[in-house]
Amino acid sequence: MTPPRWLADEMLGRLARYLRFVGCDTEYGRGLSDDQLLRSAEEGDRVILTRDRGLALRSPRVFLIDSTAISEQFRAVRARWPETPAEPRFERCTECNGVLAPYRLGTHPERETSVPRREGRTVGNVFACGSCGHLYWEGSHTARVRERLRAWAGGGPA
Ligand SMILES: [Zn+2]
Repeated sequence: MTPPRWLADEMLGRLARYLRFVGCDTEYGRGLSDDQLLRSAEEGDRVILTRDRGLALRSPRVFLIDSTAISEQFRAVRARWPETPAEPRFERCTECNGVLAPYRLGTHPERETSVPRREGRTVGNVFACGSCGHLYWEGSHTARVRERLRAWAGGGPA
């Protein structure tokens, strides 16, 4: 089972990033009206995630999220779709929802300045977004995200 493809509304940008972190196809409907969100979800076969009760009443394709806390929001999605992963996966770009692919160092040296190296080699695998080119690798940031997701999945705060 895979979770549905999502379309997060403007108020849920942070949730959209976390869902991308765990590998889920999540568009972010920044600046879209309710009508545009509904049309886009219909066309893209997506489920809208929203905090807008009025919008939630307009279509069965909408999932209402009550909480303003990111931990509660993530838990609400996983309660409804338990197949949603709770581990970071290098599959989706958190910036643009593009698909990540393994990246070979040296391909675009100008983008690699912040990639950590040890004795000239990278510490782990590097991935690149096929849409915007953003690079990703396992590091202190992903470790923090992993800890946070684990706490949320286990019911803790953070
Ligand atoms: Zn991207």
